[in-house]
Amino acid sequence: MRDAFWIFFDFVMDKKSLWEAILLDLSHVIGKPQLFSLFKDSVILSVENGIITVGVPSPIALTFIRQKFEARIFESAKKILPETREVVYEVRGSLVEEKNPNKIDLKLFSGVSDRTLVRKVPNKQEVVMENGIRSKMFNPKYTLQNFIPGNENRLAHAACMAVAAKPGDIYNPLYLYGGVGLGKTHLLQATGIEINRNFPHKKVVYMTSEKFTNEVVEAIGSRHTKSFKERYRNVDCLIVDDIQFLSNKTSTMQEFFHTFNELYDAGKQIILSSDRSPAELDGLDRRLTTRFSMGMVIEVLLPDFETRLAILNAKCRELEVLIDREVLEFIAFNVTTSIREMEGILVKAVAESQLTKTNPTIRTVAEAIRRINSNFNVSSAGGDLSRRITVRTPEDVIDVVANYFKLPKSELISDLRKKEVMIPRQICMYLIREALSQSYETIGERFSGRNHTTVLHACNKIVTEMRENAKLMRDINALKREIGM
Ligand code: ADP
Ligand code: MG
Repeated sequence: MRDAFWIFFDFVMDKKSLWEAILLDLSHVIGKPQLFSLFKDSVILSVENGIITVGVPSPIALTFIRQKFEARIFESAKKILPETREVVYEVRGSLVEEKNPNKIDLKLFSGVSDRTLVRKVPNKQEVVMENGIRSKMFNPKYTLQNFIPGNENRLAHAACMAVAAKPGDIYNPLYLYGGVGLGKTHLLQATGIEINRNFPHKKVVYMTSEKFTNEVVEAIGSRHTKSFKERYRNVDCLIVDDIQFLSNKTSTMQEFFHTFNELYDAGKQIILSSDRSPAELDGLDRRLTTRFSMGMVIEVLLPDFETRLAILNAKCRELEVLIDREVLEFIAFNVTTSIREMEGILVKAVAESQLTKTNPTIRTVAEAIRRINSNFNVSSAGGDLSRRITVRTPEDVIDVVANYFKLPKSELISDLRKKEVMIPRQICMYLIREALSQSYETIGERFSGRNHTTVLHACNKIVTEMRENAKLMRDINALKREIGM
């Protein structure tokens, strides 16, 4: 029997308004992007006798809501509807596609959908400027604000900010170099966008060096070289990405040399990127490389573990997905070549999990990494990852580690307190724990009867140090591969 209150409830407040009110209350304590990713497509399914049933579209959203917000949601619900006795949840996969009238437009909560809006902007716009310069610029997803600085790229990021604030003033030319997928294009485009925003009247041109080459070739072919020169000389900021491709292209280099000099002399900003430093650019006119070095030359490196994890978290917010922290840590930890590769793995894992309607796990992610980077798969046994674990006992791990560090096994398991032995020993304990999930106590017994706190301390120490010590991380990755982890 429904009591009078609930009939009254139906009358004055529908399920949609109730959920809206609860989420609005919640939005004061939870970040907007998180609110969006957790509660997108959720609805109140029923309100009966003090029990509010909430439908959420995925098990992972439910797990996160339960872990972090269950109590808070109950509190909010009680505030709005004091008769609430319980809030229960149900996973309803169909909610994603369903046109349910009780769904809330989360954009109502101001600022919630900033990131989504960014994604809706067409990806690349070909801009044709009034002076005829064609330029594929800019990809609006690249901004200086969404570039995450770590120790390895902070200087580059700061220099770009400075240039965007005062183009042509300091750091001219600005030359960024480093391996592929480390964020150079992101920084270059973002700086161009920022200059455009700060100085709308300034002409900013972004192009790859290939594009520059093509234009030169085209111009020579059609005998329009003169106007070509004129065109570039009207530019206030010239950004040329991947300058290494100008190597050995004599006429393009000539053209670039003149353009560079004129712009530079006129105090215009030039920003360049390359895969190597000016000194290492062979096949390029010495006069040019000397000029590249006149301003600010900065190397961009792979960010450390913490920064990689922060980039992954940001990417998850942008994709509006929730992934367990340990899965993200696994990705950040194991991808050691480029941010692009890391993002690729994340996107693959997300796509796969959406197809199979399961959450990404360390195992599925490891599979994705293995597909991209075949070295990751050491043991050749295909199929299930569990079959690829080649170690079976702690002795196996001890053997692999002793062998790797060229230490006698007896020393590794002894209580010898020499640094050269202690670190490998700690690594060994950590790996046994990771590979075989043995208790700290059992592991301790293998190492001349150490107690469990020593082992716990060793494992924690390795986890912490690995984040700062690139060599340690490489050693552990290599060992993990040998073990087949
Ligand atoms: P490069 O030009 O050096 O080859 P990109 O600029 O294309 O690399 O970067 C590859 C991807 O990694 C891009 O999607 C970029 O947004 C992302 N990325 C790299 N570094 C960062 C960072 N520090 N913060 C956020 N995203 C980053
Ligand atoms: Mg690039």
